[in-house]
Amino acid sequence: MSSLTDALENARLTYDQHMRTCRQCHADGAACAVAKHLLRIYNNARREHLRSGGQHATTD
Ligand SMILES: [Zn+2]
Repeated sequence: MSSLTDALENARLTYDQHMRTCRQCHADGAACAVAKHLLRIYNNARREHLRSGGQHATTD
């Protein structure tokens, strides 16, 4: 298990969980500052992951 895959999964789960639980995101119907921050982390992790060879995470 590569640490890049770990980071990617982690970022995705964190963002996922935020979107499920954040009242502000639901109230506004738009991503709050935290969601945007988490999404940026996820996008960065995904980019690193793709650059490293792009194997799919098996936990999906
Ligand atoms: Zn939010």
